Amino acid sequence: MSKSHVIIVGAGVLGLSCAVQLSRSGHSITVIARDLPGDSHIDYASPWAGAHFRPSPAKTPAEELEQQLMRDTYSELEVLAKQHPESGVKIVPAIEYFDSADAKSFLAKENGYIDWPDFRILKSEEYPAHHDSIQLGVTYRSWVLNSPVYLQWCRKQAEEQGVQFVRANVASMDEAVPVFQQRVQECENSDIRAVINATGRGLNDPDSFPSRGQFIIVSNQCDKTISHHWADDSSTVIIPRPLGGGTVIGGTKEPNNCIYV
Ligand SMILES: Cc1cc2nc3c(=O)[nH]c(=O)nc-3n(C[C@H](O)[C@H](O)[C@H](O)COP(=O)(O)OP(=O)(O)OC[C@H]3O[C@@H](n4cnc5c(N)ncnc54)[C@H](O)[C@@H]3O)c2cc1C
Repeated sequence: MSKSHVIIVGAGVLGLSCAVQLSRSGHSITVIARDLPGDSHIDYASPWAGAHFRPSPAKTPAEELEQQLMRDTYSELEVLAKQHPESGVKIVPAIEYFDSADAKSFLAKENGYIDWPDFRILKSEEYPAHHDSIQLGVTYRSWVLNSPVYLQWCRKQAEEQGVQFVRANVASMDEAVPVFQQRVQECENSDIRAVINATGRGLNDPDSFPSRGQFIIVSNQCDKTISHHWADDSSTVIIPRPLGGGTVIGGTKEPNNCIYV
């Protein structure tokens, strides 16, 4: 009997999260990727990530869809943090300071902040000392994850659910099917339902662009995530990595600057 199969190209947070979810819903899954958890490469973004969640505006239909996906992800990660803290996911308070924002427009629903758990505007007494530039501060409940730990956890979870992993570099999505046919033994009776592109920038998707940033990771622990958005539009972030993974601090943000040195 033929078995419904899904091929996922890419083993970053997106590919592996899809693999865990889809295999849980009964699909037979193969992940094909150039880099796998444990690898380090400048074009493998996930192991470098902080990573934390910050709300974003939902002013267009595309942003509304993204917001819904963010809510679905938030719910899943809340459950993971509670039931599987070894996944590296944790729920922590988030603080954001803005040097140019006013409370009225900030509180508009389409700005995307007000209905996240525990959201409130901070009192000025709660601002850090010696930061007179801050016009507005807010807090809410966010998730943070230790990305190297989360990637390894997803891979283990996926393997326990029968997901197969193939290391290969494909030149296009079309190449994924022959790679699957050559490298996966039970492929003959497989009915391939979908091939998912989770390669990030790997296959030159015009909607995916790099953003250069500078971050460092320090061993000090922090119990919350803190972002300061400066008047010149730059931001500084502090992102704790659960399970003793230290704290990511930084950083700059330069969209489309991808000069490798
Ligand atoms: C320092 C830093 C901090 C960050 N902080 C945050 C944060 O706080 N919150 C947040 O949400 N995001 C953060 N990000 C962004 C986040 O890391 C990325 O958006 C995310 O990891 C992208 O995941 P991905 O699965 O799409 O891609 P990737 O992790 O890049 O994975 C791509 C996968 O596709 C494979 N692949 C690529 N090309 C091919 C090919 N041709 N053939 C086969 N396989 C291929 C790769 O080997 C890899 O397995 C941060 C990023 C950095 C660098």
